[in-house]
Amino acid sequence: MNDGNRRRHSQAIHAGFDPLEHHGAVSVPIYQSSTFVFPSAEEGARRFEGSSNGLIYTRLGNPTIAALEECVASLEGGVGAVGTAAGMAAVAATVLALVDAGQHVAGTHPLYGPSRGLMEKHLARFGITSTFVPAGDGQALRAALRPETRLVFVETPANPTLDLVDLAEAAEIAHRHGARLVVDNTFASPHLQRPLEHGADVVLHSMTKFLNGHSDVVAGIVVAREAGVLARLRDVVQAFGFNMDPHQAWLVLRGVRTLGMRVDRAQANAMAIAPWLERHPMVKWVRYPGLASHPQHELARRQMAGPGAMIAFELHGGVEAGRRLMNAVQLITLAVSLGGVESLIEHPASMTHRSVPEEERRRQGITPGLVRLAVGCEDVEDLLADLAQAFSRVDSPA
Ligand SMILES: *Cc1c(COP(=O)(O)O)cnc(C)c1O
Repeated sequence: MNDGNRRRHSQAIHAGFDPLEHHGAVSVPIYQSSTFVFPSAEEGARRFEGSSNGLIYTRLGNPTIAALEECVASLEGGVGAVGTAAGMAAVAATVLALVDAGQHVAGTHPLYGPSRGLMEKHLARFGITSTFVPAGDGQALRAALRPETRLVFVETPANPTLDLVDLAEAAEIAHRHGARLVVDNTFASPHLQRPLEHGADVVLHSMTKFLNGHSDVVAGIVVAREAGVLARLRDVVQAFGFNMDPHQAWLVLRGVRTLGMRVDRAQANAMAIAPWLERHPMVKWVRYPGLASHPQHELARRQMAGPGAMIAFELHGGVEAGRRLMNAVQLITLAVSLGGVESLIEHPASMTHRSVPEEERRRQGITPGLVRLAVGCEDVEDLLADLAQAFSRVDSPA
């Protein structure tokens, strides 16, 4: 199916699936089968040998999972993708596939806490070393690369400060040193940012967030630009059992169909909420790539199709005021995670980024009072009314 020229919403709805190959089913069937029949012993041998690409066993490949992989690969503009049980399995598979013992990963911070923990705590035990430099600092990134650096690992926009990494610059730095650029594109989603077009070699997602979009599944995916890299990723996912299952893939695929609609609406809401927060007398600062006050506002316009739906801010009253605000919201939900249709609010310093030492948090701009707001798809008037009533209760402790 030649669908390479279709636009983003059409791709999300149709890419990777031809109903005529599945009894005309318009919705992708859930192939809830762990194993597949071989028409003959000879054909079974050919499939294992690789000379025939028929189905064998779901850890090695499954049509429902393949439909999701092809859809997301098409959205990102890659040669293919490998679905994983969780976003963390996508991070692990990427490093394990592309870095050997004795080699090095140069990353930027802030990074999703567990991604950094995986590298510094677990992969370090197997001789893979890593160093991390500030997201906006190309000079520092350049200086962090060593002869044994194989990966440059970045997250943009970064969780939770919404710092950006200049993807074209990071790709140039990585490639000059013979390393590959890996981008965690979870916060933007392919609807707003396609890192492969800026020179990245690998893009990964926690599909738990925007791609699935309904706060009901944990899943991940890795997309590659080259077939050789894709083969190495698939090999690691199969060997370690990082694969997803068909029902999980189907749920995520159902979410992906409406990716653009959800992201456009959540983003429109965020574009109204961010300036409202910035004008509020109780707010000390707001960090949102769509505001002119974001230090990398120009970069956001250059490499993203829109500023997204994640906002960070701090109240003048610091941690205590932030805590009272989070306890006072009624429509907005106090919970970690993001990218679902419902708006979520959380406190990184005591929740998602608690494992980052305080000194390190300060260095990364994760201030004690930073509140993270993941804007959802509700009516913006209701979200603003909820914030207004919550703000009015911050001064008078409940
Ligand atoms: C949530 C998240 C992950 C981890 O994904 P899981 O699906 O929870 O395993 C990785 N990176 C970012 C940026 C995330 O937000």
